[in-house]
Amino acid sequence: MKRIQNYINGKLENPISNQWLDNYDPSVGEVYAHIPNSGKEDVEKAVLAAKKAFKTWSVTSIEERSRILHKIADGIEANMEKLVVAESKDNGKPLALAGAVDIPRAVSNFRFYAQAITQFSSNAHENIGSKSINYTLRKPMGVVGCISPWNLPLYLFSWKIAPALVTGNCVIAKPSEVTPMTAFLLSEICQKAGLPDGVLNIVHGLGTSTGQAIVEHPEIKAISFTGGTKTGAHISRIAAPMFKKLSLELGGKNPNIIFADCDYDKMLKVTLKSSFANQGQICLCGSRIFVEKSIYEQFKKDFITKTKALKVGSPKNPDSDLGAMVSKEHFEKVLSYIQNVEKYGGKLLCGGNPVKVEGHESGYYLEPTIIEVGSNDCKLNQEEIFGPVVTLMPFETEEEVLAMANEVRYGLSSTLWTSNLNRAMRISNALETGIVWVNTWLNRDLRTPFGGVKESGIGREGGFYALEFFTEPKNVCIQYT
Ligand code: NDP
Repeated sequence: MKRIQNYINGKLENPISNQWLDNYDPSVGEVYAHIPNSGKEDVEKAVLAAKKAFKTWSVTSIEERSRILHKIADGIEANMEKLVVAESKDNGKPLALAGAVDIPRAVSNFRFYAQAITQFSSNAHENIGSKSINYTLRKPMGVVGCISPWNLPLYLFSWKIAPALVTGNCVIAKPSEVTPMTAFLLSEICQKAGLPDGVLNIVHGLGTSTGQAIVEHPEIKAISFTGGTKTGAHISRIAAPMFKKLSLELGGKNPNIIFADCDYDKMLKVTLKSSFANQGQICLCGSRIFVEKSIYEQFKKDFITKTKALKVGSPKNPDSDLGAMVSKEHFEKVLSYIQNVEKYGGKLLCGGNPVKVEGHESGYYLEPTIIEVGSNDCKLNQEEIFGPVVTLMPFETEEEVLAMANEVRYGLSSTLWTSNLNRAMRISNALETGIVWVNTWLNRDLRTPFGGVKESGIGREGGFYALEFFTEPKNVCIQYT
């Protein structure tokens, strides 16, 4: 059986304890690889390597760092097919999605930050009266930690490590133990790209042991984390008293607000995606759909018809719109919301059943599910389900829908469908989310700030925001005569 290895000090190695975890292919529900169950001692080894590498990497020219990031991007491109297949097998997502989104985006992440660093600048403040000038340097932090989730494995892993590396930091990174394969393949690509030893260290294992050891390590100066809100709060409790810099990209329960004056056909098509893409396992999915009353019944009918036509099947099948859920545990968690639909304040409109896919009977497949709710304060509208499950509810006025959209502890993203510009301006101003999409969804420009408010996290990734996060400003004041 294939063994994934840690990437420490430029070498692929087994965990010190020689303990291993099972890695599942969720499309068939079978173990297909083993991954290191790394402990504190592996993290310690990685930190020692990173500290040593930092002496050289932090003073390596930005042209050279940028060149190496482009080489890593070249390596991902050269291994595109292998990575697409690996991502789909590890996560259960359709091959077509991994090929169209996940792996190309990992290439873009490295290329984007390889270029962004060449445009990153800092300020100078001249004070003529006191004959002094202040200038601000942006210094790499040192050794930093990057922890990413399972839903968009290489996409989110590379989104963190690219800006961390290009700013001169050395990185200890941990992908989710549920989806470690593409991060492992990336280690081989980094070796070939000539990334110096110790600059990037990938340590595999459980969140509660390997991840926790990264967060607790006193020499790790900053933690960039994407994952659940509960885990983010736990990490904050450890990192805050140690004065670590924290970037937290957490959960969401995003409103999708549909007005009668929208471009109906486009809205319907995109809403299908924003509800069920990646089996609904995207933090930006619009899981609470609010529809203006005058078109509610029409929308309900059309949306149910389109949803029923979606094909759930093997990730390898090019016709599959939805593949498998990522793991048995997650599948059961999502299913438990559906099984309690009435108790939790909803009425099942369509879907809700596990799907038996021929030849893949033990895989974790679930029908895309629509639930009608009578009130926004029910459990189904307040908790992140993170699966192919959306709720539907009518509204009458702008004020009413705005209040419901904001009445939730999360604040990651929102989507708004209307052709009324004034209304679009008014509502996007008032929505309490870090990102608002008007007449579009998941339309990403990597230069923009990405992140949430409220319990969806703190800090922003993307553009220069990530370069700022991974650098420490230092002001120098010089007086002249
Ligand atoms: P988790 O919070 O369970 O895990 C995220 C990462 O943290 C994993 O690598 C996990 O390791 C690790 N981890 C778990 N416990 C600890 C710990 N005590 N200390 C350090 N690291 C730890 O989230 P999921 O992987 O389940 O991802 C789904 C969540 O991520 C959803 O809530 C989703 O909304 C959110 N998300 C947010 C995004 C955003 O940009 N705001 C984007 C994508 C997802 P392991 O898996 O090995 O346990």
